Amino acid sequence: MAGPASASASCIFCQIASKSTTTTLLHSDEKVLAFQDISPAAVRHYLVIPVEHIPSVKHLQRRTEDYSLVSHMLEVGKTLLSRDAPQSMQYRFGFHQPPLNSVNHLHLHCLALPYTPRWKSIKFLSLGSLGFLEAEKLLEKLRPLPPVISKV
Ligand SMILES: [Zn+2]
Ligand SMILES: [Zn+2]
Repeated sequence: MAGPASASASCIFCQIASKSTTTTLLHSDEKVLAFQDISPAAVRHYLVIPVEHIPSVKHLQRRTEDYSLVSHMLEVGKTLLSRDAPQSMQYRFGFHQPPLNSVNHLHLHCLALPYTPRWKSIKFLSLGSLGFLEAEKLLEKLRPLPPVISKV
């Protein structure tokens, strides 16, 4: 079998994607789904994952397919947070980079700040620290290069 069914059966996010868990989905379409992080680090903390099993950001490439997947994930995250945490002054969207990713299935962390107190001290979630890659930065890396047009 091709597609998501070929991914590891032990992957918790694949199980969520195949709807075999009781996880409440905040959003789902043919490409991505969103749900609440089980240990929220902020007032609102959502995860957006691709339906397809992609282990990490290292498995994404500079090509239209990957670029549009990540920008779609970001769009879904932004829509959910602006709906559910409109009062938040700050949003954060980013990915963990190996080896700091907790689950080996690509997931976008969507945070509406402030962080919850017990998470403030957790280094890897703080902005700009090693291991947390901002969604916009990743998009820059994946953005397909424009075709070379020679201007005469
Ligand atoms: Zn998976
Ligand atoms: Zn993570």
